[in-house]
Amino acid sequence: MRSIPLPQNVKTAIRLLNSAGFRADIVGGCVRDFLLGKIPYDYDITTNASPEEMQRIFCGFRTVEAGLKHGTLTVIMDSESIEITTYRRDGEYKDHRHPESVEFTTELPSDLSRRDFTMNAICYNEHDGFTDLYGGREDISRRIIRAVGDPCKRFEEDALRVMRAVRFAATLGFAVEDKTAEAARIKRAHLRLVSGERIYVEWRKLLSGEFAYPVLAEYSDVITAALGMSDYTLPNESDFADADFYSRFFSLFFDFSDPVAEFAAVCERLKADNRLKKYGLTVLSSIDRDLSTSAAIKRAMSELGEEEAELLIKCRILKGVANAAELSELYRIVASAEPYKLSHLAIGGKDVMALGIRGTEVGRALARLLEAVVSGTVRNGREELIEYLKSDTHAD
Ligand code: ATP
Ligand code: MG
Repeated sequence: MRSIPLPQNVKTAIRLLNSAGFRADIVGGCVRDFLLGKIPYDYDITTNASPEEMQRIFCGFRTVEAGLKHGTLTVIMDSESIEITTYRRDGEYKDHRHPESVEFTTELPSDLSRRDFTMNAICYNEHDGFTDLYGGREDISRRIIRAVGDPCKRFEEDALRVMRAVRFAATLGFAVEDKTAEAARIKRAHLRLVSGERIYVEWRKLLSGEFAYPVLAEYSDVITAALGMSDYTLPNESDFADADFYSRFFSLFFDFSDPVAEFAAVCERLKADNRLKKYGLTVLSSIDRDLSTSAAIKRAMSELGEEEAELLIKCRILKGVANAAELSELYRIVASAEPYKLSHLAIGGKDVMALGIRGTEVGRALARLLEAVVSGTVRNGREELIEYLKSDTHAD
C-alpha cells in the first residue's frame, strides 16, 4: 500500500484528534491530487469528532468558526489553514443545490457517500491507510469521473455537481463515465438555479484547464446551460493551448450577431467582476477594428487600452482572423520608445492651454496631436507639436 507523506501541520492535527479518541483522515481533493502525482495545495480532514469537540481540541490554535454550523472548523497551523469537518450526512435537498438540513454522524461511510465523485470520496490516514469504498483509486487510474451512487439522483440533489463534473474533465483530462455524463446532460437545466458566483468559480477553472478544448466541444449543451447563453462557436484548436482565460472566454462570442449583448448577459449571470466585464465589452465591441498597420495598432492601444488591444489581437488570432505578426508588432511598440498614448506626447494640457485653447478643446487638441504623431505627420518634439497646433488650431 502506498503511503502519503503528510505535511507536519496535518500530522499534528490528526494526532491531536487521535489523542482525544477520534478518527481523522485526509479526504477529497488532496487525496485525489496525491494519487495523481500532484502536490495537494490544501488539505481537508474528515473526523468523527463533533464540532464542539473540535473546538475544544483546537482551542489553543487560531481558528475560523464561520463554517462550524456545517461542521467545518478551520484551524490555522504554521500559518496555513486546514479545514476539519465532522462526518456529515446531508438531509433532503431543496432547490437542487442546498441540503434542507445537515446531520452530523459518526459513520465514515455516510460521509464518503455524500461526496460527488468516486475520485473525491477516498480518505487516508497513516494508521488505516486508504478507505476507498467506491473504487475511486481504480477510476483515477483509468482516468474516469464517476458519480458516487446514482448519478441522476446526485445531480438532482445538487446541480453544481454537473458543472464540477465537466470542470474536472477539463482540468484533469479524465473522461466522464457514460451514465454520469448522460445524467449530467439530463439534469443540466437545474444549473440555472445555482448561484452565478459558484458557476463562475467552476467556469474559470474549466476554461483555464489544460483539457478545456475537447470538453467545450463535447459538453457545449451543459456549459451553455450553466452560463445561460444560447450557444458558442469554438476558435482554432491549435492556438487554444497557449491562450489565457480571457482570450479563450471572449473568443467564444465572436460569431454572435450581437456579441456585446450576449457577453453582457453572461456577465450578469456570472456576477462577473468589473475587470472581466470591461475587458470583454471592449474587445467584443472592437472585433472588426482595423489593426493592419503599426499606426492602427497604436490607435487601438491608446483608445482601448494596452491590455484590451492585446486581448483583442489574441482573440483574433484564436479566431483565425489575425496572425501572430499583429501581436509581435504590439509587443514591439510596447518595448520601443515610440509614442502611442497621450502621456507619451512631448507636451501636455498646460502647454496647450498656454496657446489659448480652453475647455473641452484641450482634450481634442491633444487627441489630434497624438493622431498626428502616430500617423507620422509630425515628430513628437515640443517645438514641433506646438508649431503643429498653432497651424492646426482650426483644423476641425
Ligand atoms: P479542488 O482541487 O478544485 O479544490 P476539490 O475536489 O478539492 O477540488 P473542494 O470544493 O475543495 O473541491 O471540495 C472538497 C471535497 O468536498 C471534494 O473533493 C468532495 O469530496 C466534496 N465536495 C465538494 N463539493 C461537493 C458537492 N457539490 N457535492 C458533493 N461533494 C462535494
Ligand atoms: Mg479542494
